[in-house]
Amino acid sequence: MQAQAAVMPERHGRWRIDTLEVAEPGPQEVLVRVVASGICQTDVHARDGFFPIPYPAVFGHEGAGVVERVGRAVTTLKPGDHVLMANPSCGACSECLAGFETYCSNAPMLKQSGYRADGTSLSFRQGQEPLYGSFFQQSSFASLTLATARNTIRVPDEVPLDILAAFPCGVNTGAGAVMHVLKPQPGDSYVAFGTGTVGCAGLLAAKRAGCDPIIAVDVFDERLTLARSLGAIHTVNATDPQLVNAVRSLAGGRGAQWCLEAAGIPAALRAAVEVLAPRGTVCLVGSAGAGVEVSLEMRTLQQGRLVRGCIQGESDVQTFLPRLIDLYRAGQLPIEQLVRHYPHAAINDAVADMLAGTTIKAVLQISTA
Ligand SMILES: [Zn+2]
Ligand SMILES: [Zn+2]
Repeated sequence: MQAQAAVMPERHGRWRIDTLEVAEPGPQEVLVRVVASGICQTDVHARDGFFPIPYPAVFGHEGAGVVERVGRAVTTLKPGDHVLMANPSCGACSECLAGFETYCSNAPMLKQSGYRADGTSLSFRQGQEPLYGSFFQQSSFASLTLATARNTIRVPDEVPLDILAAFPCGVNTGAGAVMHVLKPQPGDSYVAFGTGTVGCAGLLAAKRAGCDPIIAVDVFDERLTLARSLGAIHTVNATDPQLVNAVRSLAGGRGAQWCLEAAGIPAALRAAVEVLAPRGTVCLVGSAGAGVEVSLEMRTLQQGRLVRGCIQGESDVQTFLPRLIDLYRAGQLPIEQLVRHYPHAAINDAVADMLAGTTIKAVLQISTA
């Protein structure tokens, strides 16, 4: 079987569309025709060499599509099912067994090794040259790809796949961090540091929880305008030299009870700690490269402030993604307002627009349903 895939030939390179040969699904795998895929900052980090996956490689970890074939041991999915491909986990390690699959001990191998879940075989071939895939056990920047049944989630046929492609990582992470980790109560103050997909999804979840006020911080004024339309009461540009004082006073002077740091920038994390009220919590979801450090004034933690992080919203994707889709259909998560579509071959333009801040969520249209 042949797939059209956006291949990254080398570190810091440009994506090119190539024809690849796709392997047969193994017993626990599914072959998915990818209709659309979100692009996330982590794909850009993969381009730039943050992970051990060798080049050339196919990335993409927010696939939405239709099941073509299933492996012989797969009982939960069948050809024709509409699906999302999400964060992989092994299901057998102590973290998975404790119900915290986002901290799966085997996640580094499953996400970033370039190999299928067996650890030795490759999902794509291009002539005689090895080519790496199975990024997050999906490599969704390909028109046909292999995923594990465990990280493939059935979704309703009538919801557009090119909107749902924003959900597996970005929306899941932001909404999950608020709903599973922070758990704010009505009337609590909430600050979003960073208003990309993750920050906006968190903001929508905070609004749904009844947070008031909701304050959004970003360097891009257009994003702050969008944040207001999604429910932010106040916005502050992150370049404001009085950022901390401004946010604290907008949060009622005592500081904010909850912060989501989705920017992944040391100055943003430090500011998020400094705007907290006594006993307030900041959850870090923005990702930074290895070796990036943050400095904090130690006494800022003595007010009972809590700094913690989470991966992928601490979500069980098999149950949480369907719940988020229900909220989307009920009009409570208007994710379509974040999405801009691009043809598969325009992936380099899509990433450039994301990095420039002009596109919140880029979704590639890869094949027709
Ligand atoms: Zn595990
Ligand atoms: Zn991601």
